[in-house]
Amino acid sequence: MYGQQILIISHDLELGQSLRALLPSDAEVQVLSALTALGTPISPAHSASLALVDVALLSGKPLNLLELAPLQAMPVVLILPESLPHTALNPLLAQLHVLGVLIPPYTTDTNRSALDAAIRNAPLHLQKVELEQQLATAQQRLDQRLQEINVIYTIGKSVAAAMSLDEALPRIVSTAVNLTRAEEGFIILQEEGRLYLRASHRFNEPDAAPQRTPAKDPVAQRVIQSGRPVMLKRETKLATGNLVQALLYLPILRPGGSTMGVLGVVNRERAAEFTEAQLFALSAIADYTAIAVENTRLFGEIQREQYRLHSIVEQATEAVLITDEHNCLLLWSRSAANAFGIPDDSAGKPFLEVLQHAQLLELFHQAIEEPDSPQGEIVLPGGRVMNAQITSAPQLGRVVVMQDITKLKELDRIKTEFVQTVSHDLRTPLTTIQGYVMLLDRAGSLNEMQRAFVRKALDSLADITDLITDLLDLGRIEAEYEMPMQDLQLQQILKEVQTRHQNQARELNINLEVVPPETPLQVRGNPYRLQQALGKVVDNAIKYNRPNGEVKLDTEDTGEHVIVRVKDNGFGIPLADQAHIFERFYRVILPETESIRGTGLGLAIVKSIIERHRGRIWVESAVGEGSCFTLLLPKNG
Ligand code: ADP
Repeated sequence: MYGQQILIISHDLELGQSLRALLPSDAEVQVLSALTALGTPISPAHSASLALVDVALLSGKPLNLLELAPLQAMPVVLILPESLPHTALNPLLAQLHVLGVLIPPYTTDTNRSALDAAIRNAPLHLQKVELEQQLATAQQRLDQRLQEINVIYTIGKSVAAAMSLDEALPRIVSTAVNLTRAEEGFIILQEEGRLYLRASHRFNEPDAAPQRTPAKDPVAQRVIQSGRPVMLKRETKLATGNLVQALLYLPILRPGGSTMGVLGVVNRERAAEFTEAQLFALSAIADYTAIAVENTRLFGEIQREQYRLHSIVEQATEAVLITDEHNCLLLWSRSAANAFGIPDDSAGKPFLEVLQHAQLLELFHQAIEEPDSPQGEIVLPGGRVMNAQITSAPQLGRVVVMQDITKLKELDRIKTEFVQTVSHDLRTPLTTIQGYVMLLDRAGSLNEMQRAFVRKALDSLADITDLITDLLDLGRIEAEYEMPMQDLQLQQILKEVQTRHQNQARELNINLEVVPPETPLQVRGNPYRLQQALGKVVDNAIKYNRPNGEVKLDTEDTGEHVIVRVKDNGFGIPLADQAHIFERFYRVILPETESIRGTGLGLAIVKSIIERHRGRIWVESAVGEGSCFTLLLPKNG
């Protein structure tokens, strides 16, 4: 309790002196005769650990808060004229930190102990007051921060939703000005190496409007070059000749770190400087500006892309229909609208409701159920034939593309007709020639030489017939617009091939063996064509073999595919020829195989057929040891 500074404030100096007796002897006591002697609240002339205030000072005249202000900083003991609740005297007294009251007669033990208690409590009280003040200041700062964050959050949200810079930039600059209470603010962006003022706003003026005028601002130039903010706190004459009191410029940084522009706030007349906290808040706003610029750029790009896509789809010659992941129509081409009578307002409506074509709907159902892209022919009411394919992109939607194949179908029909006619017209005279040549020896006995000529003529006739058959076949396979497919058992085909080639093998003394598959193997394919392909490979394996040779067929199920291997231990194929044997008319020249008849078209036909089944064929071979042809067929065709 030593070194206490105690003030006694009373008109009645005698009372003041007598109260001294109640105070500790070591206290530093000062008696003042008026409240005004305390000075202003900003620089109090007296600061004390306790003040004894005579309420008689306050009676009879209106009291104002300013007079009381110095007292608010210290704990107070009120000197009452009589025993009354002190707040009843003047409601303003409730603003003071009253630690006790003294009531007449003053020099009593009750008053002494009231004073003792007040003196004891005073330091604690002072501490409490100080803490309260600190808390209030902190609270105030926090409130301000929260308010700023709220403003930043709100602008962030609104900027994120903005679709154009003309919409976003004025909002941003107004927010920056309001937040910093600056006289004015602006956004400058660098576009193609030049600076443009894109938005500006003056405090308390109507909302900023978008603009795009060339800007000459050396400070902004500096910020763009350095990528660092500039803050001027005192009156400065800028290079432009303009005088400013305070200025804060922040770089608007791209995600990669380069500067795209400047967000600035300026006080030209008011000498109010900007703070670090404002710099912090504005940098968040500058970041939002960068996001807005990037967003609108991306949005513009997407819009352009969308426009391009719309035009491409709309003008596509094919009938194109695009749906979203919920199978609702998004886009369609004009030709699709004409072909299927799609009303203009169908966007967003379910495909299955808008499109009324049974075949197309069936195909679409198929696309929903199967991940593979289904394909099929669709006949339109007027007789036009479309080839439709539906491609699904998971979580994106489906694309239906339909090509008008009416003409192709017609051509196919004409070609088939032509092929049939030609094959008939060519083959008939050949068969006749063949018949007559074979009958030659019946017309009279032939000498050895004549018989040899007849044999040669018959061989050549067989060659021509084979060639015509192969050529016509290849033409037909390649021209066939669609190869009808069905589910079939592979072992059935293998058995058929074995039966057909058994005699040929026997004649050449070759052992033809088919290893039956362990489990039934189902593939999707065209039975006639698959049999033809496998037959040609087996025919070669027998043909290009030596007496007592072996030809063995086995199979394998890989899950997604079925593999058929045709192995022989015949002459084999040189490595250099292996890459060419599937080409048309390619024949390997080996002394051993020279005399073996063939057209060079067999493997080209096989390859064509396998590829139409979306399969693959390849060969592994060594000269003198034999060959192995592998056919890979997808199970689902
Ligand atoms: P070709 O009618 O001449 O047999 P292919 O197209 O069927 O025509 O075969 C092309 C060539 O590949 C044949 O001429 C032959 O030289 C070679 N070849 C095909 N299969 C075999 C095989 N299993 N062994 C050896 N050579 C073969």
